[in-house]
Amino acid sequence: MFVPRSLKIKRHANGDGKSCVAKIIKSDPEDLQLDKSRDAPVDALVTEAATTPDRHSSESCPFPSPGGQLAEVHSVSPEQGVKDSHPSEEPVKSFSKTQRWAEPGEPVCVVCGRYGEYICDRTDEDVCSLECKAKHLLQVKEKEEKSKLSNPQKADSEPESPLNASYVYKEHPFILNLQEDQIENLKQQLGILVQGQEVTRPIIDFEHCSFPEVLNHNLKKSGYEVPTPIQMQMIPVGLLGRDILASADTGSGKTAAFLLPVIMRALFESKTPSALILTPTRELAIQIERQAKELMSGLPRMKTVLLVGGLPLPPQLYRLQQHVKVIIATPGRLLDIIKQSSVELCGIKIVVVDEDKKLFKPPVLVFVDCKLGADLLSEAVQKITGLKSISIHSEKSQIERKNILKGLLEGDYEVVVSTGVLGRGLDLISVRLVVNFDMPSSMDEYVHQVGRVGRLGQNGTAITFINNNSKRLFWDIAKRVKPTGSILPPQLLNSPYLHDQKRKEQQKDKQTQNDLVTGANLMDIIRKHDKSNSQK
Ligand code: AMP
Repeated sequence: MFVPRSLKIKRHANGDGKSCVAKIIKSDPEDLQLDKSRDAPVDALVTEAATTPDRHSSESCPFPSPGGQLAEVHSVSPEQGVKDSHPSEEPVKSFSKTQRWAEPGEPVCVVCGRYGEYICDRTDEDVCSLECKAKHLLQVKEKEEKSKLSNPQKADSEPESPLNASYVYKEHPFILNLQEDQIENLKQQLGILVQGQEVTRPIIDFEHCSFPEVLNHNLKKSGYEVPTPIQMQMIPVGLLGRDILASADTGSGKTAAFLLPVIMRALFESKTPSALILTPTRELAIQIERQAKELMSGLPRMKTVLLVGGLPLPPQLYRLQQHVKVIIATPGRLLDIIKQSSVELCGIKIVVVDEDKKLFKPPVLVFVDCKLGADLLSEAVQKITGLKSISIHSEKSQIERKNILKGLLEGDYEVVVSTGVLGRGLDLISVRLVVNFDMPSSMDEYVHQVGRVGRLGQNGTAITFINNNSKRLFWDIAKRVKPTGSILPPQLLNSPYLHDQKRKEQQKDKQTQNDLVTGANLMDIIRKHDKSNSQK
């Protein structure tokens, strides 16, 4: 059986959409047989219960879950999804050469590297066509036979590589037998700092986790011989289902540190999805999914879905309905999907947004000094953060500007990048944060821009970037902003320009003071005047 990975928007040439769909979702008898065997568990672990979870049963997770932090989503079955909502699918491609190449971030066929449009249901791997599915299954079969030959005893005693129904992390005897001071010494040497109550001891080897053989094999294949320090401490804590807040340098192995507990939990969880990984950027999400797939390879029923902006939404929505175990998402796209479909995440109350009651996040208004800057910055914000962003400037028509303003007030945009056009007058009461990305050329303009927040007695925040281009305003800025209690950067306060301006202003004040006529200096002024007249 094939499960289409993406939805085709275009209709089938002969208009016989249903037969195409039937072709996609129809299972052949051989497939069904293999499906059953796939439900059989794989390798043995440290176990407690011994029942095999039913694929769609609502059996609870055998993991302890003090935080209850992992989520579940109920979704329609793959067949229902196809029949109900998308009756105009193209037939499954027969040959690899008729498939297109994958765009960046799209799934890739495990055989030929083209667009992995379908999921091979027997292995959960991405394939592009019937041809590659056949090749892929042949490769899998050959691999299985090879491993049977190299390990005949295991092949006889464990024909189905049973995976027991539960996994409970227990400290390995090697770790248990270490003295407390040995553990402390180890942590100190590795720079592991821990806070929290009864935090379990770190592992020293991946073997201490009693992972399934397949996972151990995948770790070795990825070159993970020994855990990194963050993995040593995080993995056992994660396997116990505890909440973790972790911090370590870039490139120190944080991704695998959280992925391994997530994978182990999802593996024994019968409901789908079992895990949601939220990341700030699309690039990071793609990277995490790639690593997750590497580690999950060969584990049964472990599908992933990427929910990220910048790629079409329908295929992602469809993929989400295919009993995926792990969701890797950016917040913006996840929110879009929650808005569109009724998603219930178990354990966590997720607001399903009704069109009339949009989740309202106050938009951010960013000011720049030129039209091109507004367009470029808006594009970059959208690309990098996934936030819905738009630019507004004098080159946009009145109608466009009106619509953008309406969208801004109604929460359609999370970021609006503007030139001075929005700087004055308008009551943008929904805006709570103004960013002066480019400092305006005058204090008057600056006051108007920051005045877009905090309207009608509401609190607001303004963040202003300054550099030497606005050095002539340094002292004025400091004078204006300091009384609000804001902390000004030392670079500004220590700037020679600021001190120069301050000194000049003080001299000017003194001069003005001298020029004023008061009771005290009146006689002096008269005498000076008389003296200069008599000299003439
Ligand atoms: P990360 O900090 O998660 O981005 O990981 C940085 C790199 O280290 C990635 O390329 C990982 O594949 C790799 N890596 C993670 N854990 C290990 C490990 N235990 N042994 C070797 N490489 C690892």
